[in-house]
Amino acid sequence: MIDNVDGMVESIVLNSQMQSCVSDGETEVNHQIMAHYFEDELFCPVCGASRRQKVEKFSSYQIFDIIEPEHKIEFKQFPIVHIATCLQCSTKTTMVLYEGPERLELAILRNAYGGCVTENTPKEVKYYLDQAYRARMLSALSAAMAMYRSALEWILYEQGYKNGMLGAKISKLEDDISNNIAPRWANDMPVELLTAIKNIGNGAMHTNGGDISKQQQIDGSLIELVDIVFTELLDVIYEQPIRRSKNLKKLESVANNLSK
Ligand SMILES: [Zn+2]
Repeated sequence: MIDNVDGMVESIVLNSQMQSCVSDGETEVNHQIMAHYFEDELFCPVCGASRRQKVEKFSSYQIFDIIEPEHKIEFKQFPIVHIATCLQCSTKTTMVLYEGPERLELAILRNAYGGCVTENTPKEVKYYLDQAYRARMLSALSAAMAMYRSALEWILYEQGYKNGMLGAKISKLEDDISNNIAPRWANDMPVELLTAIKNIGNGAMHTNGGDISKQQQIDGSLIELVDIVFTELLDVIYEQPIRRSKNLKKLESVANNLSK
């Protein structure tokens, strides 16, 4: 996968050719020259899953050295830009490897809405999930987490929980579950998951007792997990009822014809 710095660098190295040249008339130096294009896997927001991509080198000429024995990759210039095209739906992704304040970083910029949105996700929820996705693609993970929290608040608002802050909305949902008047999806989704997302979202925005290092717990794998939970939540709330109703209509239509 090329959705992270290490994966991208590994793929570039794998798809490069070694070229020897002689400098100072004597010393032979080996440079790795990047291939004009290669293929690899990347999440496609339009296909909604990981897809094979054609990854084309955008910058005209780029080389790097491999410094032994630590096998360190040393690029000769930045930024390194590639354009990835989904082989299934042609969605294009601009991938920029650049020098961040502390280390090499990767920006992933798309020509389509990103994140874990589904076909019938309301546009307000889609907006916040897209914001989360954009922040995530630039490694701004606390900012992404704050946007996931807002997306959750919008989902509850849209589902009829309009009063109070997010905590009050979740409490009302819990009361409704106890009284058997909650929306049907609430029985398929542990409400503790929503509370955890709220609490992590709060932690992303608050001072946490003056300890900024706590923010580091919001890392790439945690955000990946939050994204998976949202994918499931959106499916249960907005897709499953439509799917079930369509399937039922089909089955009933055939059943009716057969019983005539
Ligand atoms: Zn695609």
